[in-house]
Amino acid sequence: MARGPLDSPPVDVTVLGKSPSWQDADGACSGYLVEEEGVRLLLDCGNGVFAKLRGRRDYDAVDAVLISHLHADHFLDLVPYSYALTYGPRRERAAGEPARPVLHAPAGAGETFRRVVGAWGTEDLVENAFELQEYEPGDVLHIGPLTIRFQVVPHYVRTHAVDIVSSLGGRFTFGADCAPNDELCAFAQGTDLLFVEATLPEPEPFEPRGHMTAGEAGEHGRRAGARRLVLTHISDELDLDHARQEAERAFGGAVEVAREGATYAVP
Ligand SMILES: [Zn+2]
Ligand SMILES: [Zn+2]
Repeated sequence: MARGPLDSPPVDVTVLGKSPSWQDADGACSGYLVEEEGVRLLLDCGNGVFAKLRGRRDYDAVDAVLISHLHADHFLDLVPYSYALTYGPRRERAAGEPARPVLHAPAGAGETFRRVVGAWGTEDLVENAFELQEYEPGDVLHIGPLTIRFQVVPHYVRTHAVDIVSSLGGRFTFGADCAPNDELCAFAQGTDLLFVEATLPEPEPFEPRGHMTAGEAGEHGRRAGARRLVLTHISDELDLDHARQEAERAFGGAVEVAREGATYAVP
């Protein structure tokens, strides 16, 4: 639908990284830039994401960072991001107080960051660089025009699917990492744009499971009644055409595989 000059812009979701726990060639792990009306939210900051962010936006023009769960491929680039905010030349050029983006991370994140960085350096690096706010699953966040809710999904650590609603009511739902489950289908019901992980070529042969196949991702998209489904958290070492076809068969419609640099508009 064409938009007039007075209409509010939609939310844009740009894929900075879509790799699973190891990067694609020249790729990055989990990272998505969500923007509306000049407000910028970085959803996940896995390894490789900081460089991809720098290729598109000033890192100190990000209003908030939101971490879905405390696995390395979803937060590790908070380390170089923190070094840039703390020591980068922009700090010296900036007038007044340096920008301190808000960092929304799961409860317990501060302790995790201190243990990670404390292995070699100043353990409060991340907390000094960002304004850390730990969230609980029942919290509702407001970041500029965006309203954000969470749903715990089954994975190896406490993990949150994230639903982001624009000022116009358009919805982007991110399934994070998860095993097959009912909660995501209910949480994402009727969403405009659903990103679901499709990590596996075959289901894990052990319990508890922690990830999904492309066919399972498609089934979750169908059960959620999503208008548009995108597979993510999928390696370039898999057959992506086959994955898309498996997902489309289960979804009952066209499915896309997330591509780094691609931008998806939420109405
Ligand atoms: Zn992951
Ligand atoms: Zn994970």
